[in-house]
Amino acid sequence: MSEDTGRDMSEDPGKDQYTFANPAQQYPAIAPPEQHQEAPGLTEQMEPRPDIGESSYRGSGRLTGRKALITGADSGIGAAVALAFAREGADIALSYLPSEEADAQYVMALIEAAGRKAVPVPGDLTDPLYCRELVGAAINGLGGLDILVNNAGKQSFCERLEDLSDDQFDETFKTNVYAMFWITKEALPHLLPGSSIINTSSIEAYQPSPILLDYATTKASINAFSKGLAQQLAPRGIRVNAVAPGPIWTPLQPSGGQPTEALPTFGQSTPLGRAGQPAELAPAYVFLASAESSYVLGETLNVNGGMPSP
Ligand code: NAD
Ligand code: MG
Repeated sequence: MSEDTGRDMSEDPGKDQYTFANPAQQYPAIAPPEQHQEAPGLTEQMEPRPDIGESSYRGSGRLTGRKALITGADSGIGAAVALAFAREGADIALSYLPSEEADAQYVMALIEAAGRKAVPVPGDLTDPLYCRELVGAAINGLGGLDILVNNAGKQSFCERLEDLSDDQFDETFKTNVYAMFWITKEALPHLLPGSSIINTSSIEAYQPSPILLDYATTKASINAFSKGLAQQLAPRGIRVNAVAPGPIWTPLQPSGGQPTEALPTFGQSTPLGRAGQPAELAPAYVFLASAESSYVLGETLNVNGGMPSP
């Protein structure tokens, strides 16, 4: 392996996601210090800062003129997807919690720097009224909708089932499953043939951690929902797929997603030996959103550093 294949793209603006590299070294092998924030967490308080592709993602017109609504678009995977979609030529409506305005502003500036429109629609996805208004606001702001990314998620670890409160179980399902249902239902009448729906699942759908019972159960639900809905909507020319990330360094993890003491080794047990960066997820969403994946329906695309998955 030449020295040139070991690199950190965030520190080398000359390189992009197409540059030949050893994937084990393409992004830094992080060992984050123990840290904690209240959920949903903010990017600027993270050490190290996640890489959403600011300096590396190169667009090539794959989503020219498309109109996308992305939930959880302020940070982590959703932010990387928003940035990539914009650089591929799409306008973006962003859903996030009002407390995440600082992260959202950062992402919106990147979208606008790419010459695309950013439509902010903050609110709480556990509220069905917001979910419905979100779709209307996105369509008004974008002048239509043809990509829906249900990506927002709640993950709060809990060691013992006896300590898993009814409220948490309810909030996890509302955020991860019900909001996907409410938003998709509201959006469907507006989606023309050619539109794409992409839901964020997880490796947890197949390899549930003992401390993430509520979360893992929602992710299995998201896979089933996506595969069933894909069949229902295929005759209408609307494709539904899912992306299932492995351990990715995002605000979700230091804000109760993992025990604090687990963070220094986060992601190191994957075959690739490191955690993933949000930037590494974006190409999967771009592929599933674009017409180039026309024959891909009901698929769960695993982006997890090599953990075996069905
Ligand atoms: P993240 O914290 O950056 O993004 C999650 C987002 O969900 C937040 O930014 C927030 O805007 C949104 N959200 C949470 N509760 C909400 C609510 N009640 N109302 C409105 N928005 C709400 O973390 P991420 O890891 O990028 O998460 C994105 C998706 O990826 C989630 O579905 C998560 O389950 C999934 N995922 C993450 C990992 C990982 O290791 N980070 C692994 C597998 C799957
Ligand atoms: Mg966030």
